[in-house]
Amino acid sequence: MLKFNLLGGGVRCSALVLTLGAACLACMPGPGMAQDEAPADKIRVLIIDGQNNHNWKETTRATRETLIACGRFEVDVATSPANRGAEDEWAAWRPSFKRYDVVFSNYNDGGRCLWSEQTKQDLVDFVAGGGGLAIVHAANNSSGDWPEYNRMIGVGGWGGRTPAHGSHLRRVKGVWTTDPAPDGGSGSHGPQHAFVVESAGVSHPITDGLPERWLHAKDELYDSLRGPCKEVTVLASAFCPKTKRHEPMVMTVSYGAGRVFHTPMGHVGGSDPVHCVGFQAVVARGTEWAATGVVTLPVPEAFPTAEATSVVAPSKVKWKRP
Ligand code: ZN
Repeated sequence: MLKFNLLGGGVRCSALVLTLGAACLACMPGPGMAQDEAPADKIRVLIIDGQNNHNWKETTRATRETLIACGRFEVDVATSPANRGAEDEWAAWRPSFKRYDVVFSNYNDGGRCLWSEQTKQDLVDFVAGGGGLAIVHAANNSSGDWPEYNRMIGVGGWGGRTPAHGSHLRRVKGVWTTDPAPDGGSGSHGPQHAFVVESAGVSHPITDGLPERWLHAKDELYDSLRGPCKEVTVLASAFCPKTKRHEPMVMTVSYGAGRVFHTPMGHVGGSDPVHCVGFQAVVARGTEWAATGVVTLPVPEAFPTAEATSVVAPSKVKWKRP
């Protein structure tokens, strides 16, 4: 097993050190989870929404359904003020992140973070202190003006991001590295289409047991994301017909003692992408890993193959082992 961690601009390959690191992480209980508690205890998830250029109500509903249906989570939602100009409301908006094991962002402020400095610091302290953060689709468009957010998500798109915000992640001869691409973009996608998600060959609890290649249902394929790229591990990618390159599709980021799971998949504009069994599996397992450092959820039945998509409503997904 060889893992590639991107630290700053360089690539470090140290199977021994990183394997030991992974073993330690696997032993670490999530915040609020005592070491002797059974893994069957529900993981507490806080979905953040309220601002997005997507139908965030529909995304929250679909996310909630998937997380509840797999039986591993209990889910609360913190909805931000609707009015961007209501300064009093924003000053008072302070979700209690520390009451949860993982914060799941379905939140996109378009690039200018409206949170109070205290609320920003609360999230930083929560993740740095060992909490989990899940970043899905347009959540990586958010808060381009907040350096610590960019650090936590590894890479992001749009939201005022420029080459000054960091590099692209690039797969060169099978190895993930960084490319500053000073003349390149900072977030883009072509027409929606089904695409193959391909394992990066890294053993990780989120993706272990998943097929090496599986066909994700019609979705936006984000390309040219950029950011600090610090302590990012790419677990899976997809070939982008537009850039003629592989773009990261499943990532993890280490931030202090915390774990970040990030997938750019999951555009809501029809049920296909978010009801793709592969997407649901990655989201549920990624959220579990971000919360606890381990994955107990099995690979659901009817997982897509390399040739065929599989779209199933969350309540009909079979998570139990046969
Ligand atoms: Zn989208």
